[in-house]
Amino acid sequence: MALTSPRFQPNAALAEVESNGKVLKIGSSGTPVHLVQMALLDLGYSLPVSTAKANYSPDGIYGEETRQAVKKFQKDSGTLKDDGVVGQKTIRELDRRFSAFQHRVRLHLRSIALTHVPFERSLSNAELVYAMYGIKIEFASGESIKLTPDQRALFDKVDQACKWDLNDGEINELQGIGSRAPANDILVFYVNTFADSNLLGCGGHAKNRPACTVAAHAGAWDTAHEVCHVLLTSSFNPVHISDQRNLMHPESRSSPTPPVLTDRQVKQIRNSPLCGAM
Ligand SMILES: [Zn+2]
Repeated sequence: MALTSPRFQPNAALAEVESNGKVLKIGSSGTPVHLVQMALLDLGYSLPVSTAKANYSPDGIYGEETRQAVKKFQKDSGTLKDDGVVGQKTIRELDRRFSAFQHRVRLHLRSIALTHVPFERSLSNAELVYAMYGIKIEFASGESIKLTPDQRALFDKVDQACKWDLNDGEINELQGIGSRAPANDILVFYVNTFADSNLLGCGGHAKNRPACTVAAHAGAWDTAHEVCHVLLTSSFNPVHISDQRNLMHPESRSSPTPPVLTDRQVKQIRNSPLCGAM
């Protein structure tokens, strides 16, 4: 047997718990604990201490509160021994409860540039991040857009500054080319560069046309980051998160391990009209 839940399946440490190679208990920490805590929250168990920090929440620390919530989950299951330790049987039961995705976000990729990171990788990385929270990233369509010579000159470098509401200007114009997408899907435009060459992306878009723009030299997690801006909207604070493990840390990451989200970000994303129920 192997883990099948999209939340847990890619995590090597949880796979080890499933194969009886280790357990999560008091003193354990990191993403595997974060994922178990997130699952417990989604099952309705409250973790006020573990969710107190705004930058990394739930905190991935297997303390007394997590132990008690695990015990309660085990007791409520009616079949598990309530020892407060996440071992093979407990992770299998959690896996079973989250065997399917609960939400989905649909992306339409539109490109006028040759990206450094292949689309497939940007997509699969985005899938990994959101899957940890039961959200399926669906590739809805992809287009390499043929530009007119005038458009090529205009969009060679995107000069417009990045802001939230872009109802005019170059980015607005760019996001109007290529095939349209349904109103609750997200368009992702890949461009050569912005005038500010340090800028790797922009989550700004016109009202009722959810979209983001990503520079060709952006990193492997940056598509997921810009899509997150669109999902969170301008109403969410903080826009960026200072903890480097979070997807919304302002700097591009090169780490191969998936960045995480906070439970507050996840809640906001799930409430977005762009995040549909499965
Ligand atoms: Zn950002």
